[in-house]
Amino acid sequence: MEHTFDVLIIGGGVHGASLAFHLARRGVRVAVLERKFVAAGATGRSSGLVRMHYDLEAEARLAWVSFGYFRDWARRVGGEPDCGFTRTGFLQIVEREHADTLRANVHMHQRIGIPSLLVTADDVRRLAPSFATDDFDLAAYEPESGYADPPSTAQSLMNAARARGAVLIQECPVTGIRVQGGRVAGVTTPRGEFSAPVVVNAAGAWAGEVCRMVGLDLPLSTWRHETMFAHRPPDILTHPTVIDFPNSMYFRPETGGLTLVGLEDGNLLGLPPADDEYVRPDFVERAGERICRRIPAMVHGGVHSAQVGYDGITPDQHPALGPLGPEGFWLDCGFSGTGFKIAPAVGLCLSEWILDGAPQTVDITVFSPARFLEGRTLRGEHPYENIWR
Ligand SMILES: Cc1cc2nc3c(=O)[nH]c(=O)nc-3n(C[C@H](O)[C@H](O)[C@H](O)COP(=O)(O)OP(=O)(O)OC[C@H]3O[C@@H](n4cnc5c(N)ncnc54)[C@H](O)[C@@H]3O)c2cc1C
Repeated sequence: MEHTFDVLIIGGGVHGASLAFHLARRGVRVAVLERKFVAAGATGRSSGLVRMHYDLEAEARLAWVSFGYFRDWARRVGGEPDCGFTRTGFLQIVEREHADTLRANVHMHQRIGIPSLLVTADDVRRLAPSFATDDFDLAAYEPESGYADPPSTAQSLMNAARARGAVLIQECPVTGIRVQGGRVAGVTTPRGEFSAPVVVNAAGAWAGEVCRMVGLDLPLSTWRHETMFAHRPPDILTHPTVIDFPNSMYFRPETGGLTLVGLEDGNLLGLPPADDEYVRPDFVERAGERICRRIPAMVHGGVHSAQVGYDGITPDQHPALGPLGPEGFWLDCGFSGTGFKIAPAVGLCLSEWILDGAPQTVDITVFSPARFLEGRTLRGEHPYENIWR
């Protein structure tokens, strides 16, 4: 097996796969070293929402550039399997006190070119007749948005990268990073040493651990998130994808007459990520009660299944992207529970930064992890509260 590359990527989730794809397209000899298998981490448990509504312009831009990939996957990425993008329309519902913030964010999205408009509670009732709409006045509506299939997206990006010469090595945990003369030289694994002048940390919930391998102690924590799939009663054929701030919840339709529900509150921080956990005893009850508030007829539905996933999270709930520590060490992590939908663009912009010295497509330097060492945090231009509580 070849052991010398231009770039080594630690982690085969959607971000490692996206970066590998964009680097391989540029002729870079890249290897992805994955502890288990592609999408074994957050990507394999992700709810897959694809929407552009962010309160930070740089993130909205990343989501919008990424959306171009999801919509046109066969031409832009081409690899099998398909990313499974399903257009459902997306609603961002906010509490009455956030109506002005919502307006400002929709204006920002429209300025960027994102299809988004303000709709009233009456409009929402017409778009989604099964919804209760008495607790808000305004929502944002993105008619083009929806959801995709995260493991297939990652696998597709990885396959497309491999078709361009990238190497994927699974069951290969990185246990150390070699640094010589202040710059990275490669990594150590139970399957031998691998050498490269650039090493990228795309290790998701394990990213803090990987940073410590080069002596970086960053506030990269873990976020544990539970989701439930519920059967819809047959008279609710489908509904849009929704982020529902008044109920601290998001939900979307799934094939087979199911609805996926996640809660924004009650997510645990700072636990060591596990691969084989069950949801906590009260989760299904809480999620069921919450979805019935927005869709009262769901009281006639039933639980299908529930699962747990872990993502890396930063103190400001925005990603950590860019170089830090020894020369050649890069961060591509800290996606804080919202990183799936921006993966195609993050990989593109990071490949530009690594190869050209600066990101070209979207200025992702605002996400530089140096902000944590300088005591700075990122906030949206028209901020809501932190999404995860
Ligand atoms: C339950 C859940 C629901 C979510 N829903 C959404 C959503 O609807 N929309 C959205 O945009 N985002 C969502 N997210 C967030 C999104 O899924 C993540 O931000 C994204 O998948 C992170 O991808 P990643 O590649 O950075 O990390 P991961 O997918 O976690 O990949 C990291 C990989 O690194 C590997 N690894 C770790 N340590 C090592 C090591 N030492 N050596 C080698 N490999 C290593 C792991 O095995 C893992 O495969 C959700 C996340 C969760 C958990």
